[in-house]
Amino acid sequence: MEGKQVRVRFAPSPTGPLHIGGARSALFNWLLAKKTGGKFILRIEDTDLERSSAESEEGIKDALRWLGLTWDEGIDAGGEYAPYRQTERIKVYEEYTRKLVGSGQAYHCFCSDEELNQERQAALVKGQAPKYSGKCRRLDAARRDLYEKEGRKPAVRFLVPPDQTIVIDDLVRGEVVFDSNGIGDFIIVKSDGIPTYNYAVAIDDALMAITHVIRGEEHLSNTPRQALVYRGLGFTPPKFAHISLILGKDRSKMSKRHGATSVELYRRQGYLREGLLNFLALLGWAPPAEREIFTAAELVEQFSLAHCAKSPAIFDPEKLNWINAQHIRKLSDEEFYALALPQLLGSGLLPNEETREKSWLLKVVATAREHVSYAAQVPEHIRLYFEDEFDFESEEAKAVLMEEDAGKVLSSFKLLVNAAKDLTPSGVQTVLKELVKSSGLPGKKVYMPVRVAITGRMHGPELTQIIPLLGRPALIKRVDYSLSKISAERAGGTE
Ligand code: GLU
Repeated sequence: MEGKQVRVRFAPSPTGPLHIGGARSALFNWLLAKKTGGKFILRIEDTDLERSSAESEEGIKDALRWLGLTWDEGIDAGGEYAPYRQTERIKVYEEYTRKLVGSGQAYHCFCSDEELNQERQAALVKGQAPKYSGKCRRLDAARRDLYEKEGRKPAVRFLVPPDQTIVIDDLVRGEVVFDSNGIGDFIIVKSDGIPTYNYAVAIDDALMAITHVIRGEEHLSNTPRQALVYRGLGFTPPKFAHISLILGKDRSKMSKRHGATSVELYRRQGYLREGLLNFLALLGWAPPAEREIFTAAELVEQFSLAHCAKSPAIFDPEKLNWINAQHIRKLSDEEFYALALPQLLGSGLLPNEETREKSWLLKVVATAREHVSYAAQVPEHIRLYFEDEFDFESEEAKAVLMEEDAGKVLSSFKLLVNAAKDLTPSGVQTVLKELVKSSGLPGKKVYMPVRVAITGRMHGPELTQIIPLLGRPALIKRVDYSLSKISAERAGGTE
């Protein structure tokens, strides 16, 4: 880094949502910038006109902001190297293309798709790797005129010099050597005047004074072409760091089969920004000490490219859930409630925020904190507090209330609940003790009917947790409701 300020960039193509792999690249760049007091830049690479969209760009920016990976410079933020959207930089690329063509390092290519395809097929038939023949390298004027008259629009190709060794000194992978003879003259500007990725990315990284290019290993094979462009234009290349591929648990390329792949989907399921960042950081970076839970600030403090691994990272949704759960445990009641609220509203458990008292909601939601990995799991966990009328979960549950003593236990329970001084957990304990004593039954024969009568289920949270949260009116209502269902059952009612 030689005292030079670190300038790193995230350069997404806005052709879809922000995926896990992209978010991981953004994170690693951001971490390096934050750690070194450098600058994190957001550049939009929208040269694929067909697939790029404004919606995708907005989605990517939203997801980055949600993750807290905000940029110091770039799209929307501005900066001295503006514009930061490639389609607004066409003139810049044109200037360099003129230079390259003028100096004979690039040339116009009139080959049609059909001709190129034939060449490719011929190479494949011979068992050779397809590589452009260089047919248009030295077009004579007559042929050129002819093509132009035919209305053919030329692409521009970079003339790859033969017999050159291209060495990429990668900060993660070490020295990676490529032979220029393996690389055909590649297109830098398509016939519609739009530059290709390898060309625009090299010019932009150079002009925007990017010091480190941190990106996924899948881009390693593009790097020699970019290095050639740097060389051709006399630019100094940045340092490269190709971080490990992300594979699914079955070690195949990460895809939707392996779980949600976009950041937005995780956000919607109520994952925490800190949980997701923590998980992403471990995809390719090995913390120095044996430790897995980090806040964003701790990641900044600990991160270093030197601890990035070469081997593929495995995307394990269970690990993400575990990590996220650890971060959820650290939330205050208010924070956890804020995270869970959209899920409660979305699940229909809570028609709107005013339906229930906030202080009650806070307490009820808090009961799930130790039990869930992400907020979308909360509604199921606390459903029992919301529904005074429920179905018994099983025949077994029903049978508990059909037992001889159950009616008697529940009548006494109602009396004790009504008479109790308070229904705090300790007040509830007193009620239950009294109930056991007065009924002369073993504890289980008392607790089970109470539990089933007020929740419809055989298992669940402690009665000392449920009863205070339900409160007197709901308790009485539920016991009466359950008893009436049982007597209907006894009378042969079919419900
Ligand atoms: N636009 C490229 C992509 O989204 C950027 C790759 C790079 O970082 O150079 O894959």
